[in-house]
Amino acid sequence: MTQDKDDDFNSKLKYCTHCTIFPVYCTNISSNMQKHLKSWHKINVKISVSQVQATTLQQLEQLYLQAMLSDQIKAIDAQVFQKHLNQNTINEALISLIVVQNLSFQMIEWSEFHIFYQILNSKSVIFITTAHSQIRQKIIKAWQTHKNTVQKKLQSVLFSIHLFIDIWTSSNKLLLLAVTADFVDCIEEKHVKILLAFHTVKNHNEKKQFVVFFSVLQNYDIVKKLKTVVADNSDTKDIFCQEIEAHLLNK
Ligand SMILES: [Zn+2]
Repeated sequence: MTQDKDDDFNSKLKYCTHCTIFPVYCTNISSNMQKHLKSWHKINVKISVSQVQATTLQQLEQLYLQAMLSDQIKAIDAQVFQKHLNQNTINEALISLIVVQNLSFQMIEWSEFHIFYQILNSKSVIFITTAHSQIRQKIIKAWQTHKNTVQKKLQSVLFSIHLFIDIWTSSNKLLLLAVTADFVDCIEEKHVKILLAFHTVKNHNEKKQFVVFFSVLQNYDIVKKLKTVVADNSDTKDIFCQEIEAHLLNK
């Protein structure tokens, strides 16, 4: 470096006024100084928009204002609104809303529902079905996708899987049967509980319980990883246990 270039380089250096130790940090790059202030002095500095960016934004704003005066604005807005919408994400959110909140499939025909989402984004009208029959298909598709995810998760379990089967009466007097699995997720290093089956049943019939239980073993192919089975509602004849024993001995 020549003396002139040296002087020029030094004159552009900026020194940190917060450093209390020697040597005081210095740089001629703004982003480096920003990182230094954040990591050493916990100071967050917002970098202002550059002159080029500011001019560009101003010009875009003017173009938008010009478009507003003509008929072009509707076409521009439509493109922007539509770009924010994603069919798969909308399907997932809609199915989740209906299934988790146990809503009627008929909600898809409620005018209030259509008004609500079209107020948020007028272009969303072409992304949401108006036929409740399509909701059933979408739920089956979503169920299959989530079931595959659960299946892969169970197949990746390194240690034992424990199954629980139980029957109880719901608040609307229905007998509900559920099978859950407990295992240790070695990737996330935590205990996981997953619901594998959920049915309404007419009574505590243990053969019926075994049919549901057997479908879980088959659907998720987890016999080899099965460690314990905890069942409630079994009488002294232990028909359920006998059915399991007979099945496992056949394997
Ligand atoms: Zn400093």
